[in-house]
Amino acid sequence: MEFSQYNVNALMYITPRPELVFTEGRGMWMTDHNGKRYLDYLQGWAVNCLGHSPKCIEDAIVAQAGKLLNPSPAFYNENMVKLADLLTQHSCFDRVFFANSGAEANEGAIKLARKWGQKNKNGAFEIITFDHGFHGRTLATMSASGKPGWDTIFAPQVTGFPKADLNDIGSVEKLINEKTVAVMLEPVQGEGGVIPASREFMQALRALTQKHNILLIVDEVQTGMGRTGELFGYQLSGIEPDIMTLGKGIGGGVPLAALLAKEAVSCFVPGDQGGTYNGAPLMTAAGIAVINALTAPGFLDEVKAKAAYLSKALFALSDKFQMEGERGEGLLRALKLGSDIGPRLVEVARDLEPIGLLINSPRPNLLRFMPALNVSYEEIDTLISMLSQVIQQVKDEQAAAPAAQS
Ligand SMILES: *Cc1c(COP(=O)(O)O)cnc(C)c1O
Repeated sequence: MEFSQYNVNALMYITPRPELVFTEGRGMWMTDHNGKRYLDYLQGWAVNCLGHSPKCIEDAIVAQAGKLLNPSPAFYNENMVKLADLLTQHSCFDRVFFANSGAEANEGAIKLARKWGQKNKNGAFEIITFDHGFHGRTLATMSASGKPGWDTIFAPQVTGFPKADLNDIGSVEKLINEKTVAVMLEPVQGEGGVIPASREFMQALRALTQKHNILLIVDEVQTGMGRTGELFGYQLSGIEPDIMTLGKGIGGGVPLAALLAKEAVSCFVPGDQGGTYNGAPLMTAAGIAVINALTAPGFLDEVKAKAAYLSKALFALSDKFQMEGERGEGLLRALKLGSDIGPRLVEVARDLEPIGLLINSPRPNLLRFMPALNVSYEEIDTLISMLSQVIQQVKDEQAAAPAAQS
């Protein structure tokens, strides 16, 4: 089918999309309407942690679809119970509430912290969040986010989210007052440009929040579910938060998210929290398949080994083109380009023939990589050789037309 035959204008315009319609995916590869194949280092924005359409998720969903789709959120179902059990067994948390998106899980975390503040801290409600943080696109989570410009687009904001600077404990301490109920952060700022919170900072944050009897909330929508090489990002710093949210990878491609909390903080009472699809068995079936795969013996060791391999290869590429190195945790990594060529690299990579490469530039001077956690070494080598070609092409382009780039 020709692209012009699709009536894409029936969709609300929310982002410029390339003139491609994707029709199939398998593992690290995706195919468009022309049959062209792409090596996919986006994976639905770190969502497909086992790659496109893995057999274990397909089997789980197909089996569940013919069995029970939705008994009602007011009843238990086997999959919601089992997945909550697995998540609590493999983390430091005791209770789970399932949601459909990362933003919704974070809304739940904000509500839970405010409820806890009402019960335990005289109605304290302020949650300290961070510049360049990202927590979702609902009104409250946009207000909690520190994306430049987000404080005004849908004004007025939801109040109560003062902003500190990542990896600067003094900037957090300064904001604490009698209204403070929690500190909330991503263990690695993802949308902000793959900026890890340091181990020392996470430990200092845990000590500071304990000293002031306030909660520590980790938004692990991007860093959770094996992405960093640990099952959860907080495990990198050896601390235990009070609340955690999961999204993206937990569903392996389907809409599933979760809010987890320690027993002492799980203070919702009937009426406080809910949602039509919470814990629906179709999505939680996928979640069970995902966590079983990630916790299989040796899986996370492989993620760590591949992360080290990718990191080394990106450093070598950086050296070759005199760039500024790379950073990240596990298989959430960024190449520091040293100039604002990211958006152009993304286009050229996608348009490569005969196969394209899908990558993302969260900031113009960075490329971000979020492969499937079971990416092969060969697919990492292919990434590097394709990137090398793309960077060379864009550098040549710039050398030929320096004025057009300024
Ligand atoms: C993607 C993301 C969200 C939002 O998740 P949605 O499922 O898009 O609502 C929240 N927090 C972080 C850290 C994310 O990366």
